[in-house]
Order: sequence, then C-alpha cells, then structure tokens
Amino acid sequence: MVDQTLTVYNTLSRQKQVFEPLHPPFVGMYVCGPTVYGDAHLGHARPAVTFDLIFRYLKHIGFKVRYVRNITDVGHLENDADEGEDKIAKKARLDKLEPMEVVQFYTDRYHQNMDQLNVLRPSIEPKASGHVIEQIEMIRKILHAGYAYEANGSVYFDVEKYSHSHDYGKLSGRVVDELLINTRALEGQGEKKNPFDFALWKKAQPEHIMRWPSPWSEGFPGWHMECSAMGTKYLGETFDIHGGGMDLLFPHHEAEIAQATAALGHESVRYWLHNNMVTINGQKMGKSLNNFITLNEFFNGSHPTLEKSYSPMAIRFFTLQAHYRSTLDFSNEALQAAEKGFKRLMTAMQTLQKLKPGPISDSNIKALHQACYEAMNDDFNSPMVIAQLFEGVRIINSVNDELEKITLEDLELLKKTFQIFITDILGLTPEEGEQSELIDNLVQTIITLRKQAREGKDFKTSDLIRDELKKIGIVLKDNREGTSWERE
Ligand SMILES: [Zn+2]
Repeated sequence: MVDQTLTVYNTLSRQKQVFEPLHPPFVGMYVCGPTVYGDAHLGHARPAVTFDLIFRYLKHIGFKVRYVRNITDVGHLENDADEGEDKIAKKARLDKLEPMEVVQFYTDRYHQNMDQLNVLRPSIEPKASGHVIEQIEMIRKILHAGYAYEANGSVYFDVEKYSHSHDYGKLSGRVVDELLINTRALEGQGEKKNPFDFALWKKAQPEHIMRWPSPWSEGFPGWHMECSAMGTKYLGETFDIHGGGMDLLFPHHEAEIAQATAALGHESVRYWLHNNMVTINGQKMGKSLNNFITLNEFFNGSHPTLEKSYSPMAIRFFTLQAHYRSTLDFSNEALQAAEKGFKRLMTAMQTLQKLKPGPISDSNIKALHQACYEAMNDDFNSPMVIAQLFEGVRIINSVNDELEKITLEDLELLKKTFQIFITDILGLTPEEGEQSELIDNLVQTIITLRKQAREGKDFKTSDLIRDELKKIGIVLKDNREGTSWERE
C-alpha cells in the first residue's frame, strides 16, 4: 500500500505536483538511456543515479514500477539537424568493427559501470534497432494524420503545420515563430520544408551500413522516433513518467511530444522529469565538448584532471549530495569532501550496530525518521535526506561517547531509518562490506580467547594477544561491558 504523498516537479507544468499514477499501484517510467559508442562518463552517471533513486523510492513506498530505459544503437546522428554520420556507424568505421560489435562492447561496459555504481537494472532495456517495425508503424500514423511529409525517400515531421493546431515548444519553452524567423534566412535547407523539421525516417546513403527496408526507402529511423515507439509499446499510449537529462529537452523530448500527439491524437506522458547537468569549470561535461572524465578514469584515477582515484560509492554519494534539478559541479575538492562524508556515514552505520540502549532518549528519532520521508516526498530531495542522516550520525556518536542516551525502541527505529534510507533508497553500500564483517568476526574470536586466558590468570598470553594486535593497528579497549576494538 502506498502511504506517502509524493510531489514531483513536472517540467511540462513548471511546478511541483502531487504524483498520482494513472493505474495505481502501477507506475510506468521511461528514461532515455545511453547512445552506446563510448565509455560512460560522469554526465551519464547523473541521470542513471537520479532515476535509480526515483525507481528505488517509488518501489519503497509501495508502487509497482515498470522502468524502461532504452539503448540507442541506431539513428543518433552527430548533428541534431539530421546531418552527419550515425555515431555508432562512425565508431564502427574508425575501429573496423561491425556496428553491433560496437554496440555490444559499450553496452557491456555501461552495465559494468552501472553495477559498480549500484544502479539497479531497469525492468526492460529495449534497443532501437530491435524496434524498427514499431517505429515504421508510428511514422505511418503520423503521415496518415498529415503531420509529416516524404522527400526523396526520407520522412520529416512538419513542425510548422503541427504548430498551427498544437503548441510545439510547450516543454522546452521554444517559440515556433522565433524558430521560423531565425531559420528562414538560412541557406541550404535541403529536402526539409523548414530547417527545424526533424527526420522520422532517413534514406540511407550508399555507404551507410545500418539500414532497413521501409515503405519509403532503405534507411533508418530518426533518433527521436525510438523513444516514442518503445515508450508506447511497453508502457501504453499514456504513461506516468518520462525522464532524462535537461540537455534532451530540445529537440529530443519536444519532438517526442509532437510525434505522440500526431500519431495517437493525444500526449502520452503525464510527468516529465529532468535532471540537471554535470559541469566542469562551469561548462557542461559532455562528449561533444570533449571535457568529460569517464567513470573508469574516476575509478582508477588515470585522468590528468584527477588528483587521485575515486571509488564508485564516492561518485554515487557525490551525485546524491546535490538535488537532481541543481547543477553538479565537478572538482577534486568536492569529490574528496564527498568521500569523507560517505566514510563518516558508513562508520556511523557500523557503530550503530554496537550501541547499547538506555532508559530515555535525548533526541527525537521519530522526527528524524519522518523528516527523511518528507525530504524524499518533496521532489526526491536527496541532499535534505543526507542532512538528516548526518544528524543521525551526530546522535550515534554522542550515544557511543556516552554523552546522550537512546531507548531500545528508538535505537531500533534509528537502525531501520539508516537501513531504509542509506541502503535501500540512496543505494549506498559499504565498499569492503564483506571483508570488514569478516575482520570483525575474527577479532571477536581473538577477544574471546584473550578473555579465557585472563580468566585462567594467564596474563602473559592475554598481554601478548593485545600487543600483537596493536602491532597490526587493532586497539583493544577494556570497559565494564567487556572488550571492544577499533582501528588505529
Ligand atoms: Zn529518448
């Protein structure tokens, strides 16, 4: 049962709205995935982590989510004006590979990186090349409705005609009249009636490898078509959430709205959610600007901009420390601060398991638990959740230092809060989790042996154990409750 009231910022209405899915408890969510012709960089990690957070939270509060994230493996040209080479075909030509070898190679690497970041796999991960028939079918409908035209074997969406009866630009805020004025003067429009018309189908040039038969020519679908066709196929003609990076607002998502409206007679997406960009020195990090740092370079520290390597969990925590609609500015200092914060959180989580309850609570744990939900319900405010969790860290350390007390009931609630928000929702896990558990068990065994030695008045052995452990950086502390240990 869903017992939280969630509000989300809808880019289309430009305001926060209460999230009410079409068919509760089911939620359909479509997110634009990667074009697989190179390694994923920090700019790719951002939407993946953002929509992973959203996916995890929706599931946590009781929704049954079908999460579709596509793989673009055809039709994404180098230039948004439908010119230039297909990105994957170009990579294949340069590396002397089959296009599908390029696709397989980078899809595998993308999955590996996402696993490292603890990003859950979507429910369905469809490829554009596997849905050409569905795309052709949708283009037919758009042509039939009169919002597209054929030119030399290619099919283009007629933006000017569409805008007579519909609001092209409603999502991105672009104004068609301005587009018209600004582009009419340009030369070389080629086959298009207007330069801002976009391709639904492109006739393949003789050298183009990836091609399919169609009623219009041997060719390939335009990039925007795949998301309309696959979203409709797997989530229905109307579905709840469509997500992606803000850089996709125009023309990609604007085109998707126009295509769906033209083909189906109505819009298909109810809530549009967009994550902001990763910046480096104030500029968007992206492959086209050639200022990107790949995730693998972060993990092994090999990029010259990096002072050191950063673990996947440090990158994930760094991403979640900013609200998804704010820009995330990369710097070594910011990453190192995130790394420290993450470690403090993980250490507190271990300390929490060892705390002893007392007769009263000095802090209000119920309020903290509730505040975490309120933060998530307010458009997935992860930095606010993290701030609450650090208040939890303060309480844990105070109780551990015997500066404040906590009842058994509150201690259990605090453990539950940390489990839910750190592990389940933020998806943060200890980096050497299994190893540190093993070490703890080993040291506990040694402590038991030392206790037996002391009880048998064998102080020579008990001191030897303590001194040998100290040599490897493990310090034993004897107190009334028994013996605890920590690393030097
Ligand atoms: Zn898309």
